[in-house]
Amino acid sequence: MQQMEINMLGQMMNTPLTITDIMRHADKVNGDTEVVSITYDNSYHKYCLTDAFRRSRQLANALQASGIGQGQRVATLAWNDYRHLELYYAVSCSGAVLHTVNPRLFPEQIEYIINHAEDTIVFFDPLFAPLLEKIAKNINCVNNFVMLTSADKMPKCDLDNVIDYESYIASHSETFDWPQLQENQASSLCYTSGTTGHPKGVVYSHRSTVLHSLGSALPDAFSLSMDQTVMPIVPMFHVNGWGLAYSAPMTGAKLVLPGPKMADGETLAELINNEKVTMTAGVPVIWLNLLEHLKQSDTDIPTLDRIIVGGSACPEILINEFDELFNVSVHHAWGMTEMSPLGTFNQLKPKLKTLSDEQKMSYKLKQGRVVFGVDIRIEDWQGNEIDWNGFEFGSMKVRGPWVASGYYKQGEHTDDNGYFDTGDVASIDPDGYMLITDRSKDVIKSGGEWISSIELENIIVAHPDVKEAAVIGIPHRKWGERPMVVIVTKGVEIEEQEILDFYKGKVASFCIPDAVEFAEELPHTATGKLSKKDLRSHYKDKILG
Ligand code: AMP
Repeated sequence: MQQMEINMLGQMMNTPLTITDIMRHADKVNGDTEVVSITYDNSYHKYCLTDAFRRSRQLANALQASGIGQGQRVATLAWNDYRHLELYYAVSCSGAVLHTVNPRLFPEQIEYIINHAEDTIVFFDPLFAPLLEKIAKNINCVNNFVMLTSADKMPKCDLDNVIDYESYIASHSETFDWPQLQENQASSLCYTSGTTGHPKGVVYSHRSTVLHSLGSALPDAFSLSMDQTVMPIVPMFHVNGWGLAYSAPMTGAKLVLPGPKMADGETLAELINNEKVTMTAGVPVIWLNLLEHLKQSDTDIPTLDRIIVGGSACPEILINEFDELFNVSVHHAWGMTEMSPLGTFNQLKPKLKTLSDEQKMSYKLKQGRVVFGVDIRIEDWQGNEIDWNGFEFGSMKVRGPWVASGYYKQGEHTDDNGYFDTGDVASIDPDGYMLITDRSKDVIKSGGEWISSIELENIIVAHPDVKEAAVIGIPHRKWGERPMVVIVTKGVEIEEQEILDFYKGKVASFCIPDAVEFAEELPHTATGKLSKKDLRSHYKDKILG
């Protein structure tokens, strides 16, 4: 884009956009908004935002006393609860950088990222004490460990310099003079475990976080307001919990944080009903658990209005059954760690609401329309931009104030036009609905045709006896590569031919897999996605044709 010389400036104040402003606003305007949590040491904790920020000020004083200065990294290994929320604000608003560590990573990866980030202090949930005890000897930067509990509930722990959180903050003043921060300074850090090499660090800024909070809270995205009660099931250790720990206090939405009980359908249903949750967000598998529990226990969830599903493709059954059985609308969202994370959100345009149920479903299954703040571009394999025609697909690239320009300690990672390559392959229809057809490395190339592995997975998981499925490309003597589907059944035996027949009429015949394998389970990454890398390596010697 051509840069123009400025000959007249706007006269608006150039105040920096910082998380401290979210906190100040939330404290003053939404201070009585409740935050409900389940923690390791408390099965039901309730207080309001004013209490949270008072304790954040104590924590900021404690961090200062520990010598944590501007830009220093503070690690958390923690579930979604009120102490983690206090850390979110105390660390970033005091000028340090909140490094949320994903406890589901392999211990060696956790070791690597704590050393790579040079964290000096680690706040951790008691449940992760054994994990830290195992790797502590290989971590050389950390001086202090703080266990997220109180002295009387603290289990025995072999770490050096360990203290419980309540004692850590107890003696500190409830007032803290928050420093004036610059909007582009780092606020938090989250590593993404790519498919190759070590995890890579994404460094968010105060500005990106504030803009993402504003953009994601809009009505045709998360639609947050003080009328909402939000239960984020997306972990606060993964992409800032999709920013809900910022956008909910900013808008006055009540937060319900289920701590270590995120995968427990019964607890989630109880929380929804006791706290009158209206909106919740997380990855598909969480909702499949909840759906199963609700159906089995004949429980209703009358207050729940919307479920936001992201992280991987949303199965049709979720949208259908939550709608038909519980009157809950399921919305697909897409994003990534490098995008803070929100990129697209699925909300039906008014003109589409009169379509047949089947036609509406074809839109709802797409990943949604791009939100303001993200510029999206689909390129063909030569790098030319593809029209939004809904059938041509290519590499999806993004640009915007909450999109990463590079990785921590690795420099820039954008193309010549300043776009970041998401690694996703997608099409966009004329109404702006984006559909992911694959990850670029997972597309199957068969005799010059591109076959979407995701489309083949979506079809077969609709089979009543299929629990989970993955499709990968297997080398083929004639076609270069052909699709193979790996199936986990719901415990019943299925004939291979039945699987192949299920595809007939649903995709072009050249897309139907050549081979079917059955497995007890499929490999997953630390963020719950299918690990096709592991699956490919498992079948590395297989050749078809
Ligand atoms: P992560 O950075 O771990 O959150 O992973 C981001 C990747 O997850 C994206 O690049 C997509 O490949 C995938 N992803 C996220 N949301 C969706 C979605 N709604 N449907 C399909 N894939 C998704």
